Amino acid sequence: MSVMPAAFIGHGNPMNALERNRYTEAWRAFGRSVPRPRAILVVSAHWYVHATAVTTMPRPRTIHDFFGFPRELFDVRYEAPGLPGLHEEVADLVSPTWVGADLDSWGIDHGTWSVLLHAFPEADVPVVQLSINALKPVDYHLQLGAALAPLREDGVLVIGSGNVVHNLAGVSRAMPDAGFDWARRFDEAATELMRADPAAVGRLDGHRDFDLAVPTPDHFLPLLYVAGMAGATGTTADVLVNGYTYGSLSMTAFTVGMDPPRSDGPGFAAPLPDEPPPDGANI
Ligand code: ZN
Repeated sequence: MSVMPAAFIGHGNPMNALERNRYTEAWRAFGRSVPRPRAILVVSAHWYVHATAVTTMPRPRTIHDFFGFPRELFDVRYEAPGLPGLHEEVADLVSPTWVGADLDSWGIDHGTWSVLLHAFPEADVPVVQLSINALKPVDYHLQLGAALAPLREDGVLVIGSGNVVHNLAGVSRAMPDAGFDWARRFDEAATELMRADPAAVGRLDGHRDFDLAVPTPDHFLPLLYVAGMAGATGTTADVLVNGYTYGSLSMTAFTVGMDPPRSDGPGFAAPLPDEPPPDGANI
């Protein structure tokens, strides 16, 4: 069995689930170029709770965890099966860290399905989510990611889904496809570390722009799982696609363990969406 890559995807606006733009095209290209996984384990920004847990339902439901978006987004279903047995594999790998088995509280949230609709449109690969424990410090998430690295050799594709820069209070509708200086500085610093020394990504909490770029940790922490996985095997990350939306969100995506797709390939030159998120949108 070939070694799976891993990826961090900047998911941005939930409308990306329905749109086709250069980000979603990059996600699509990623899905097409990885070996077929036995399962996909997603660390989504939107399952941010007071525990580390793994979904264990055989048929996870599609969760529409946002408001203020068009009906068609609420009609989306991503009906991939689960893989209840993966909980035990994860629990063994990260022991003695405790990992709960979630039988019925979560499912597949939009941090996961907005990406997988493009990357794995057939929804025929089992999908399992790993929650982010909001009570734990940066190092905990890096170490958990490192402990999960052997999953790559066991047919499991691990995806972190969040955004390196994610400041909803700072969204500027006048900047549909640009980033504020502070957002660019922080995203570039993260990129530099992911490319050179992923295990050191935790240092970003001392960056001068950290408080603006990461006003809440939920969208940033999924990056640490992928950084931890890369660091554990002495590999570095490549940029799959990057860019900014609404000034205060970066859309950067990283892969670990695969050749970066050609950035001049078909689809990558498509224009960015210029639709602002609806008022009060929760992305
Ligand atoms: Zn999000």
